[in-house]
Amino acid sequence: MAVNKSSSILVVGAGTFGLSTAWQLAKEGYKSITVIDKHEAPSIASAGHDLNKVFRTQYSNPLYARLAVEARDAWIASPLLKPAYHESGYIFAVSGESQASIDDWQQACDNSRALGAEMVELKTKEEYLAKAPFMQGEMKDWKAVYIPGAGWTHAEMALTALTAECHRLGVRFISGADGAAASLLYSNDGKEVVGVKAESGKEHRASQTILCMGAWLSRVLDVEGMISAKAWCLVHIDLTEEEAALWADGPVINNRVLGYMFEPDAKNRKLKVAPQLPGYTHYTSPTLSYPRSKAEHPTDGIPSEAQALIRKFLAESVPSLAQRPFSFERLCWDAETPDAHLIISKHPTPGLLVAGGGSAHAFKFLPILGKYVQQTLEGSLDKELAKAWAWGPRQAVPNTSLNISVPTKDLSESKGWKHEERL
Ligand SMILES: Cc1cc2nc3c(=O)[nH]c(=O)nc-3n(C[C@H](O)[C@H](O)[C@H](O)COP(=O)(O)OP(=O)(O)OC[C@H]3O[C@@H](n4cnc5c(N)ncnc54)[C@H](O)[C@@H]3O)c2cc1C
Repeated sequence: MAVNKSSSILVVGAGTFGLSTAWQLAKEGYKSITVIDKHEAPSIASAGHDLNKVFRTQYSNPLYARLAVEARDAWIASPLLKPAYHESGYIFAVSGESQASIDDWQQACDNSRALGAEMVELKTKEEYLAKAPFMQGEMKDWKAVYIPGAGWTHAEMALTALTAECHRLGVRFISGADGAAASLLYSNDGKEVVGVKAESGKEHRASQTILCMGAWLSRVLDVEGMISAKAWCLVHIDLTEEEAALWADGPVINNRVLGYMFEPDAKNRKLKVAPQLPGYTHYTSPTLSYPRSKAEHPTDGIPSEAQALIRKFLAESVPSLAQRPFSFERLCWDAETPDAHLIISKHPTPGLLVAGGGSAHAFKFLPILGKYVQQTLEGSLDKELAKAWAWGPRQAVPNTSLNISVPTKDLSESKGWKHEERL
């Protein structure tokens, strides 16, 4: 059945895709939107519930380089989201032996330059220090460029702003056991999805169900190999007032094979640092990786090799922090697709749309994701995008937003991330 603005819309998941979708549809005059989630919006389990996310337009795939330019304009144009957008500059670097990583870095720089991005090569220690006074390391063997038109977004702040705006626009939110989706509801003939049944047994019926469940999608849908739940690691380090002052308004540092870090949070001086690893699976059956969320396992930390990589990254770039304790560790879950393309697609079963497959790079598109979900819902999505984001078999290619020089591991092969193992 064709949707119209009076159709009831059920959005499952109050994270990045879910809130962007609910906001967009509410803005565009959809009158009956309900968002359900296990957690209150914005969900603490969401990959987007985080201090910072990189905003960059450097992509080796021109589709996302273009999309990032569109998203940048949207962040800046939105009075709601602009306070969370920090164009503090970006040092984009690579180091080490992996020729594939170096080539990919070069390709991403070339694409970005072709789209008009300004870029300055950094070669000497003085050139780094001029852009980032806290980078007192040697940065030995690093190749790097400084890009003024990139930076970071305060992700949690942006999701909180969207949640408030959705409330104002009349979107209904349900959380707890009533909001936790347990299964899909089908029409009597079993041919159409008509909503979702929650863990409490409550039924949420709607003309259109939009699944925005990120890494948890397989909870209600056979994902047919379309996504794998993967965890990426992050830590916080508490800085002193003097250290934080040195970093204020400083650029994001992203070394493609070591790690990335951001200017510290203005309020609590927490510095987020993440290692560049290809992500961890968590196989709960021979064929299915399923998240083990920090929201449900608050004492979980990150694997020892991820901690070691963070320390190596710091030793090379900000040696004074290399041995500083981590005040917070998190395994953060996202849905990775085989080709790192997003999924924004109607499902073959009528009544159902899937939006996700963020593959560790979708947050920057927050202001425009909902627009593409709406176009998919209404059947007006551009053909190239519809093909790239379609539900259906995909050819596996390396996710070049990640460190492609090391293999993916399962959490069961790694030590140090379970609190009790460290006691
Ligand atoms: C560590 C890390 C770093 C990242 N860094 C960047 C970056 O620097 N730049 C960038 O652009 N992108 C980044 N990303 C990617 C980006 O954050 C994700 O692609 C994006 O947040 C995914 O959005 P989503 O809506 O698909 O999933 P989420 O935002 O995770 O939302 C899924 C929602 O589903 C809910 N849910 C789960 N189970 C149920 C259930 N049974 N019923 C109802 N709801 C349920 C969850 O509570 C959650 O709210 C990063 C991701 C990670 C993990």
